[in-house]
Amino acid sequence: MPYCPKCGNKVDDGAAFCQNCGAKLNTSRTDFSDELKRFTDTPDSTSQYDPRDIADNKVMGVLCYLGLLWLVPLLAAKNSPFVKFHLNQGLLVLIIALASSILNWIPIINIFGWIVSVIAFAFAIIGIVNVCQGKAQELPLIGKYKLL
Ligand SMILES: [Zn+2]
Repeated sequence: MPYCPKCGNKVDDGAAFCQNCGAKLNTSRTDFSDELKRFTDTPDSTSQYDPRDIADNKVMGVLCYLGLLWLVPLLAAKNSPFVKFHLNQGLLVLIIALASSILNWIPIINIFGWIVSVIAFAFAIIGIVNVCQGKAQELPLIGKYKLL
């Protein structure tokens, strides 16, 4: 339990003000990390995959998130359940990247195009980090959709 920095009174987790002296408590930092944790705490099905499958197919897994190179694991390694998981995740990222390039061609709303590309890029990074860590963890927000 945290303490009030002004009077030292014990305060409830996440309280905005001290109940004793009324001082405003700085809770924004914990709020942000809680928010971030909720955002990144997605279902992780790593334990359902064969550790050897994961170890053998990390390179193919990374290719799932590299734009058109997505086709390489699709053709070469789709029998691997681990690769298949990341093919699905990578396809979701590809769709977002495609949406951003379409937005870029539409006047006025094309300002959103670059925002969507940044989002797609961030998702690809998260996916690649997951593969490198040998994890089959869903991407935040979009990872729950199954297309393959
Ligand atoms: Zn206080």
